[in-house]
Amino acid sequence: MTMELRIGWLYPTLMSTYGDRGNVICLQRRAQWRGFSVEIVALDQPAEASAFRQVDVIVGGGAQDRQQEIVMRDLRGAKAEALREQLEANTPGVFTCGSPQLLGHYYEPAQGQRIEGLGLLDLVSKHPGPQAKRCIGNVVFEITAEPLAQELRALTGESPIVIGFENHGGRTYLQSVAPLGKVSKGYGNNGEDGYEGAFYRQAIATYAHGPLLPKNPFIADWLLKKALERKYQTEVALAPLEDQLANQARAAMLKRLE
Ligand code: GLN
Repeated sequence: MTMELRIGWLYPTLMSTYGDRGNVICLQRRAQWRGFSVEIVALDQPAEASAFRQVDVIVGGGAQDRQQEIVMRDLRGAKAEALREQLEANTPGVFTCGSPQLLGHYYEPAQGQRIEGLGLLDLVSKHPGPQAKRCIGNVVFEITAEPLAQELRALTGESPIVIGFENHGGRTYLQSVAPLGKVSKGYGNNGEDGYEGAFYRQAIATYAHGPLLPKNPFIADWLLKKALERKYQTEVALAPLEDQLANQARAAMLKRLE
């Protein structure tokens, strides 16, 4: 039996800044290379709530404030409910920059009114205004959220160090939700408390673009494993892939940022 994976891509045309679509391609290719069949489902304005319910893993990218506002106004009612149900039911997902902002309680853009989010992640995000310095640059952080950190260590035998690139004006403040990790280089959620991202059920929220998954392929494999195991209710051991180039790129980048 060929296992099938449906990747739900949140608002592909409005939310894909800084190469975030690379996360979708990375998941797709790493699944196909192992012989799984893959379908990519666009969860955008014309999509029905039922489409949100049919996916096995969800990817959401970043957006500028304007596009993010359009998405936040569209993602209400039945669609919001379907997304909420999926994430509460442990569907794995990766959400970058603008996406975690909209999964939180609210986002206050640089100009204009506060926009309500889904309230799924117990966090708030605020842009300090058009004059404020943006948080831009390479970011390095160690994943500390459990059980994620433990599971990643089991996959790779190493500490889960993530390399990314951030570019955000909004600052995120966590309430009860666990941080994804601790920053060693860069700003992270707000440049003040040292936290980066958030982790809730099986959802990874982060400010790291890069795109994240090709730069940190072990996170892509964790998402694939979780998605397939949840769908097929059986343990899935992913065949190793040739990641030498990705690993060399990681080592070079870590050295440069030391
Ligand atoms: N609009 C958000 C901000 O500037 C998100 C930016 C992004 O996704 N890159 O904070």
